[in-house]
Amino acid sequence: MPELPEVDLVARQLHRLLRGRTVEKAVLVRAKLARSTPPDVFSRQLRNSTISNVRRRGKYILIELNNSRTLLVHLRMSGRFMILDAEDDDPKFAHAVFQLTDGQRLVFDDQRHFGLMKIVKTADIVTSPEIAKLAPEPFSEEFSVDQFHRSLKASRRTLKEFLIDQTKVTGLGNIYAAEVMFAACIHPSVRTDRISRPRAERLFVAIIFTLEQALNMSKKGKLDPRNINGNYAPENGRWLVYDREGGPCESCSNPIKRITHGGRSTYFCSVCQRR
Ligand SMILES: [Zn+2]
Repeated sequence: MPELPEVDLVARQLHRLLRGRTVEKAVLVRAKLARSTPPDVFSRQLRNSTISNVRRRGKYILIELNNSRTLLVHLRMSGRFMILDAEDDDPKFAHAVFQLTDGQRLVFDDQRHFGLMKIVKTADIVTSPEIAKLAPEPFSEEFSVDQFHRSLKASRRTLKEFLIDQTKVTGLGNIYAAEVMFAACIHPSVRTDRISRPRAERLFVAIIFTLEQALNMSKKGKLDPRNINGNYAPENGRWLVYDREGGPCESCSNPIKRITHGGRSTYFCSVCQRR
């Protein structure tokens, strides 16, 4: 599932490709993609709208239109965008199709069917339930060591569960959470209210560092208008612990371990990462 750096890449690429272009007609092919907007309303509210801006908040992509509305998109497991020519066929899992006035069309393709869309008045974006509950953006002023440490102290969950909860920290998923905990040398099962201030500082720095590094790598990602999915080809050695069960720790050579929290795998080094 795409995490902050990947969603950021999709938003940047969509902005570059779509800004100033007009939707002639929008078809919600799979009604469940936008549960709160019936297909006829979806079509009506997007028809003849021009895309003025595409940005990101947390893992949501916000496609802002010139009719005071914003299309909120969450890619979830497998959602991706494609910009196709008139003669191209739609892909098998084309769940929303946006015919552009210049003859091309934007298609949302989602093999796993977990993607989400919603049309919200642009003025109401910050108070919409999806956005309002999100923790501060990691690169914003509001995200500080103080705020982060207070939030850790107020929770009794494990660190791993805390880090992937978008109401506590935005943008981290399974991959970057594992990398952050390794960088900070803290065990994934530690209870967050027991984390000291110096350790909270280490975690804070690790979050910023890990995301920044991934964002920088994503900027080398190639732009393929026919496959805008946030994946990018990193240089060698992308993950230090994620998906490396049994492999040697980069720091101490002991084998990387895997445990599960709430049904999801976490990878860590039991020597370098302390409780
Ligand atoms: Zn180690």
